[in-house]
Amino acid sequence: MPPSQEFNDGFRKTVEQFLQTALPAELRHKVVNHLHLGKEDFLRWHRIVHRQGWAGASWPVEYGGTGWTPMQQHIWQEACALAGAPIIQPFGINMVAPVIMAYGSTSQKARFLPRILSGDDWWCQGYSEPGAGSDLASLSTRAERDGDHYVVNGQKNWTTFAQYANWMFCLVRTDPTAVKQQGISFLLIDMATPGITVRPITMLDGERDVNEVFFDNVRVPLENRVGEENKGWTYAKFLLGHERTSIAGVGRSKRELAFLKRLAATRRSEGHPLASNPLFNARIADVEIRLMALELLLLEGLEGKAADANALASMLKVKGIGIQEDITEIMIDAIGPAVALLDTAYNHADTPASSFGDDIAAPLGQQYLGYRKPAVYGGATEIQKNILAKILLA
Ligand SMILES: Cc1cc2nc3c(=O)[nH]c(=O)nc-3n(C[C@H](O)[C@H](O)[C@H](O)COP(=O)(O)OP(=O)(O)OC[C@H]3O[C@@H](n4cnc5c(N)ncnc54)[C@H](O)[C@@H]3O)c2cc1C
Repeated sequence: MPPSQEFNDGFRKTVEQFLQTALPAELRHKVVNHLHLGKEDFLRWHRIVHRQGWAGASWPVEYGGTGWTPMQQHIWQEACALAGAPIIQPFGINMVAPVIMAYGSTSQKARFLPRILSGDDWWCQGYSEPGAGSDLASLSTRAERDGDHYVVNGQKNWTTFAQYANWMFCLVRTDPTAVKQQGISFLLIDMATPGITVRPITMLDGERDVNEVFFDNVRVPLENRVGEENKGWTYAKFLLGHERTSIAGVGRSKRELAFLKRLAATRRSEGHPLASNPLFNARIADVEIRLMALELLLLEGLEGKAADANALASMLKVKGIGIQEDITEIMIDAIGPAVALLDTAYNHADTPASSFGDDIAAPLGQQYLGYRKPAVYGGATEIQKNILAKILLA
């Protein structure tokens, strides 16, 4: 029997109380005001949550997780987002860990899972390449056997936080003669191995958190392959399902919507607060209604009512991202020309964005540009729509 409403309400109170006392004010300030967070910020929060025993919110108890129900996980994630907590980076906890749990060897589980849980290892995702994004199975980074090692040559692209990571989960081609989906393997690569070069890419929003990663005769022990050779595509797809669901961002959008309403109450147009302009309010109402509908969709999924889990994941991503894009667009319309003050130096400083004056314009401008990214990563919007059409319209 699913836990009662009373149980879930009690759980929500518990996590909200924890967040009130445990979330450092500096971190909250940065998150709520759209300032830059670095590795130490993310790790600081990860360690606090780990000490509480909640870092593995989606993990089973046998691996040190909480064993929470999907509804509890949702309540926790939403409470974190509303409180202004940094996100726990998904690459380890939510992406490679489920693959290792499902397909890894006993020694891989013992070696990697505790360090993922504690935040001691920072993982990055080596899937995309210059010639393989949406068409991921075309990837050409080559791994050839040499004794008890693979020798890896090639290039990954758009690798988020490769500059921080000490491990990469990586798709490589181990059989170039097979049908393309069947010649791929899933390797765990130590980023300190000789022959790896990480080069940052400057993005539209001025950030340098995504990278090109080059492999030049990089030796990877065979024991670092997850599962069977040439079966990596199965594991890769398993992982992508986990990635898409988390991008919907219902809690984050609720926090941003609240910010937008405060902004509308403070900014003035032709002498009146924006909040008294019916056209402006209609835009806010439209996005709020869509957000409520998205939450209902998510809750139906959590209650196991979705007809198809893959369709639901794609729908949550497409709808969730549309909402995030629109909220940030309305925000910069509220700010007006001051948004042209885009300056990453400002966002990287710890300067308080203390009022709703022009001091918040630069972070909002950067945020607007930054929120164009999710429509591309984790499977581009057009690809999600193709998936939906195949499942629902076939
Ligand atoms: C900020 C950011 C972070 C990222 N982080 C990572 C990471 O950590 N690790 C990683 O491996 N990758 C990462 N990526 C890469 C991301 O997964 C790819 O960019 C994405 O899969 C799209 O691939 P592509 O860039 O090669 O574009 P393409 O696949 O070339 O697509 C270009 C355009 O064509 C459209 N298109 C392509 N095929 C079709 C089709 N069949 N039907 C209709 N439209 C189509 C796409 O929707 C898109 O609009 C990141 C990307 C971004 C922007």
